[in-house]
Amino acid sequence: MAKTNSKIPTCSFCGKPKQGNEALLAGFNAYICEACVEKAYEIIQEDKNHPPKYSPKTEANLFTPKEIKAFLDDYVIGQEEVKKVLSVAVYNHYKRIISNHPSRKEEKVELEKSNILLIGETGTGKTLLARTIARLLNVPFCIADATAITEAGYVGEDVETILTRLLQAANYDVSAAERGIVFIDEIDKIARKSGDNPSITKDVGGEGVQQALLKILEGADVFVPPQGGRKHPEQQMIRINTKNILFICGGAFVGLEKIVSSRVNVNVIGFYDRKLEEVEKNNLLKYVTSHDLKTFGLIPELLGRLPVAVTLHPLDKNILKKILLEPKNSIIKQYEYLFGIDNVHITLEEPVLDLIVETAVDLKLGARGLRSICETIMVDLMYELPKNNKQKMEYQITKEYAEQKLQKLIPKNINTKKAI
Ligand code: ADP
Repeated sequence: MAKTNSKIPTCSFCGKPKQGNEALLAGFNAYICEACVEKAYEIIQEDKNHPPKYSPKTEANLFTPKEIKAFLDDYVIGQEEVKKVLSVAVYNHYKRIISNHPSRKEEKVELEKSNILLIGETGTGKTLLARTIARLLNVPFCIADATAITEAGYVGEDVETILTRLLQAANYDVSAAERGIVFIDEIDKIARKSGDNPSITKDVGGEGVQQALLKILEGADVFVPPQGGRKHPEQQMIRINTKNILFICGGAFVGLEKIVSSRVNVNVIGFYDRKLEEVEKNNLLKYVTSHDLKTFGLIPELLGRLPVAVTLHPLDKNILKKILLEPKNSIIKQYEYLFGIDNVHITLEEPVLDLIVETAVDLKLGARGLRSICETIMVDLMYELPKNNKQKMEYQITKEYAEQKLQKLIPKNINTKKAI
């Protein structure tokens, strides 16, 4: 055993003896040297600046389905049934995580995972729903595009890169990522196609990708490349268990209504009357079964892992107008706020709101187009109006002004004589 000079006190943390005039603080039965004090200070500061962002869900901080729905109501207009189903599914998902936790001693029923499938036209709010839920639950969230994924060996991304994104969203906190939410968009585009594959460069034909997705959707230990890209032997992998990750898949499923209609023996009304066709389609998708989705080209194993399937309604003009005005961070509220910072109070005449909505419908952009249409109307004002205004300025946007600005989007609608 090494001889120690018992008269020289040593730091109880690093074991170094006191040196020169370096301070060595004495406590009850222990000492700490200057270097260890500094290190401890750094660690404490680091923890204060970066507290764990995501805390695990417990019974105490679990939101009820009604609370989840109420939060969704603030941001997502309409889609009542979808919001309800989603709120219940999300609640059950996190209840399942708590219930299956090994610390629960009482006899329990192993609850199965319920990933979710959202069926709805582009721009109807599928991503918004998933994102809003993640925001409420304060869990890591990422969006992946199913069409970017290819079977291993083809040009494109491995399925594991979806989890890389989640890991990055969780700031590499693996346990947080393991309770996160992944939204996989365009799931309909990897449907099995009979014969023709539209791409010659990568496998978007689907079945292989669907097979690859099965593994992560169900719950498995997956080795994930931390920086994404293709896996290669030298790369250090991070292991993520996907058992408690909630996957929400979304897709437009164009043509699905025809499959439903042929099953329920309803004739889909032709292109000559779009309005009627939309109503019909709206009703038909309510009757979607997993058999229809199988006919569309999703493999039964994948469908089995997406037990909750809900359909979003196409957005009519009424809803689009509400989307402009009502959500907590609605587009119009955002513009009012932006101009307000420059002391300008803008108002939009009612016909301007109608024009914005009609333009979005004409351009078949749905809610997704509302922002870019508003931006086209507002850009010149946002350039001209900020003038260090000391006094509040009122500015009313008229229909004529809006029409003139929108001329470049849909010239056919514009009566140039009216434009100012
Ligand atoms: P999807 O994923 O179905 O293609 P998104 O969720 O990306 O559509 O919607 C695009 C944009 O349209 C959203 O950012 C949001 O501003 C708006 N939006 C769509 N649907 C709704 C809705 N029901 N309520 C409020 N905003 C909506």
